[in-house]
Amino acid sequence: MKFETLAIHGGNSISDSHRPVVQPITLSTTFEHQENSLIYSRANNPNRMALENLLARMERGQAAAAFSSGNAAGMSVFQALPKGSHIIAPDDMYHGLKKQLLEIFVDQLEVSFVDMSKVETLAAAKTPRTRLIWIETPSNPLLKISDIREISHWAKSQGLMVVCDNTFASPVFQNPLALGADLVMHSSTKYFGGHSDILGGALITAVKDEFWDKIVNIQQTGGAVPSPFDCYMLTRSIKTLAYRMKGHAEHAGLIASFLDQHPKIEKVYYPGLKNHPGHEVASKQMTGFGGILSFLVKGGAENADKLISHLKYYSNATSLGGVESLIERRAAVEGPNTKTPQNLIRLSVGLEHLEDLLEDLDQALNQLR
Ligand SMILES: *Cc1c(COP(=O)(O)O)cnc(C)c1O
Repeated sequence: MKFETLAIHGGNSISDSHRPVVQPITLSTTFEHQENSLIYSRANNPNRMALENLLARMERGQAAAAFSSGNAAGMSVFQALPKGSHIIAPDDMYHGLKKQLLEIFVDQLEVSFVDMSKVETLAAAKTPRTRLIWIETPSNPLLKISDIREISHWAKSQGLMVVCDNTFASPVFQNPLALGADLVMHSSTKYFGGHSDILGGALITAVKDEFWDKIVNIQQTGGAVPSPFDCYMLTRSIKTLAYRMKGHAEHAGLIASFLDQHPKIEKVYYPGLKNHPGHEVASKQMTGFGGILSFLVKGGAENADKLISHLKYYSNATSLGGVESLIERRAAVEGPNTKTPQNLIRLSVGLEHLEDLLEDLDQALNQLR
């Protein structure tokens, strides 16, 4: 089954005698005792089972676990590591997960932040207690690309596990497990949900091993699980994921080229551009370059803020992956300690008509000095 077909039919598990075409939402928190029945909806429920089955197949893994947020999914990986483990993570790791490592796990885990786009940094960062390498590619907000195959190959030779945050690429464009990663993480809040109205997260494993059992235990006993309604909403949204991703990537590619030529723009970061340092690796491991780009506006933070205020169709809001275009000046969101350039704008390109999106950017840029 091809991805588009799987996305539409893979999330349905129908047992009702009326034979609905869409799986109903099962709100019951408990189930009558009988052989092989579900027991309690924190441990499992029909809508989560359907979603997890779909997610596992989408990422070509053996199993998936759905969580109440991307951060909860990521956290369960850190919780499953033995105390004192060392992690190698990207220096531009998603800031919420970095915050977990630096604040919540400060007494349990050690971490080295490296430039993950340079594989040679890994050997230097490795210690006898290193257990896990965390990849996020494309990364946030500079769209840096890490070579999943090369990193996984090296990790395997060292007995280390690789987890890849695949939120930006989505399984439509990138399958980290097929490239050698052990686990994939998603913030389902982004492209899976796709309409800025669901919070969720997921992990998918290449093999059901002991580490995976620990994660499932943390999911079911810890209880950071999505509701049946959230699972239903995600299963529904994923049906259009492939087509949405194609639209996002097409628009993002054309907007990136437009901005790249514009005299008021200093630099554009989009892995689909030939001048992007990660373009070659991205072309090898992705079948599309995604819907997120960032760029530096000439004239500093002041001009970046002005540009955003002149736009009509782009909402100045955080998050990404929805059908609506979202724009923000990242440094303002990331706080005073950020290394992100003050004039960097991140754009999550939506599915409005491309001409409207381009025209709007053009008129807003033309108002800058
Ligand atoms: C949003 C995001 C997360 C965190 O997910 P939540 O659903 O907000 O908890 C993790 N990684 C990336 C790349 C993200 O964009």
